[in-house]
Amino acid sequence: MDGTLVIAPIGELHTMQGPPGPRKGTAMRETGRLHNAGLAVRDGCVVATGEADEIVRSFPGWPRLSAEGRLVTPGLVDCHTHIVWGGGRPDEFGGGSRGETYEEIAKAGGGILSTMRATRAASVKELTDGILRRAETTLACGTTALEIKVSYGLSLRGCKKELDAVAAARKRLRQRSIVTFMGAHALPPGYGRGRFLSLLESRLIPMAAAHPARPQFNDVFCEEGAFTREESERVLQAGIDHGLTPKVHSDEFKVLGGTETACRLGGASADHLLVSGDEQIKALAESNTVAVTLPGVAFYLNKPYANARKMVDSNCAVAVGTDWNPGSSMVCALPFAMGLAVARMGLTPEEALCAVTINAAAALRPRPDLEPKAGRDELPQELGTLVPGAPADFCIWPCESLEDLLYQYAFIRPESVFIAGRNQLLKLFRETWRRMDEAVREVASWSKGERQ
Ligand SMILES: [Zn+2]
Repeated sequence: MDGTLVIAPIGELHTMQGPPGPRKGTAMRETGRLHNAGLAVRDGCVVATGEADEIVRSFPGWPRLSAEGRLVTPGLVDCHTHIVWGGGRPDEFGGGSRGETYEEIAKAGGGILSTMRATRAASVKELTDGILRRAETTLACGTTALEIKVSYGLSLRGCKKELDAVAAARKRLRQRSIVTFMGAHALPPGYGRGRFLSLLESRLIPMAAAHPARPQFNDVFCEEGAFTREESERVLQAGIDHGLTPKVHSDEFKVLGGTETACRLGGASADHLLVSGDEQIKALAESNTVAVTLPGVAFYLNKPYANARKMVDSNCAVAVGTDWNPGSSMVCALPFAMGLAVARMGLTPEEALCAVTINAAAALRPRPDLEPKAGRDELPQELGTLVPGAPADFCIWPCESLEDLLYQYAFIRPESVFIAGRNQLLKLFRETWRRMDEAVREVASWSKGERQ
C-alpha cells in the first residue's frame, strides 16, 4: 500500500512516550524504551508502536523493513545553529595555544565581525548553497529538523540578503526547519550603540518579521562586549511587538541577567549557560523557557561546560544543540554533542536523547500569542517523539542500544534517516551517486576525445 511502512523487528526503539515537552527534571529520563519492537507508518505519520510480532500482525501486507539488532530513535532536532555564513575562520582555531581568548580575537577585529565581512561579501546564491550543503551534512548525522539563525549580516542589506538565502534554501531543504532572526549578534563598526539599537527597532526587526523566510524568533547576544541586559530587553521587546518570540544567548562568559529576562518575557529558550548560577537555574526551572546547552562551544573554546546535571536536578527542561558556526563551534553532528553532554556535562543517556528530541523541539516552539507579519511557521506538535500521530521522522542507527550510540559518539552515523516516512538519506546518497556518475562519464568522454 502506498505511503505505508512497517519497521520490524527493531532491536531497541525509543518512542519518547510520556508527558508533552518541554520535559523537566526526572521526566527527561522517560524515553519509552522498547526491545524487539515494531513501528507502523502511514502518510508520513506514526500509526502505532509496540511489540514486533503484534505490529506485523496488525498491518498485514504493508511493506516491511527490518532493523533487527539495531537502534531506532526519533529524528534528532538541532535547536541552535548559525549555518548561514560566508568565509571561514580556520586561522582562529586553537587560539588558546597562542594565548588568545575568544574575546581578544573579537576585539582585534576577528570573530563575529570577520564573518560579518565575509557574509556581506557573499552572494545570495553562495549563501544558499552553503545552507544546503551544511544542512545535508547534518542530515547525514541524523538531524531531521533544525533551527537556522540569521546572524552575520548586521545591516539592513546584509540581513535581507541572508533572509533571501534562507527563503531560497528552505524551498529545497530535505529537513524541517524554523528560522531565528539575530540582528543583535554583535555591534557592527560604524554605529554608535544607540544608533544600532534604533536601527534594530525601526528597520531590521520589522523587515525580518515581514520577510518570506518567516522567522519566528528574535535572538540577542546578552554579553560583555555585545549587548547589556537593558539593551537585550529592548531588542527582545521590539521582536515581541512584531510577533517574534524571544530567545537569548546568555551566561556564555559573564552573567548579565539575560537568562532571567528571557524567562520573564516567555522566551522559548535561553542558550549557552556556561556560567549560569543558582539564580539563573532557578529562573529557568520556574519557567517554560528551555535551557539550551551547547557543549561543542565549551569544547572548541576550552571553557568549563554548562552545569546541565545541576539544571536537570533543579527541574529545568534541558536541551542540547550543536551551535554550528564558523568561530566557536564547528560541531555539526548531534551524536557528538550528545556524547559531550554525557561525558562532560553529566547527563544520563536517556536525558541526552530527550535533550536532542522532545526538549529541543520545545525550544523551537513560538509563543502561541505571537504572530509575525509574514505568518506563523511551526514545527509539528509531536515532533521529537514517535507516538501515534507524530511525524514519522526517525533514524536507524548501526548499533544495538542508546548507550552504544553515545559510546560511539565521535564517528557514528545513521544508516537511514526518515522524514515524514521517506528515507531522505537514501535520496541524498542517490543524488550524490548521480553527480559522481555524471562526473565519471564526463571524464571518460574527454579521454575518448569526444570533447575538446
Ligand atoms: Zn549561537
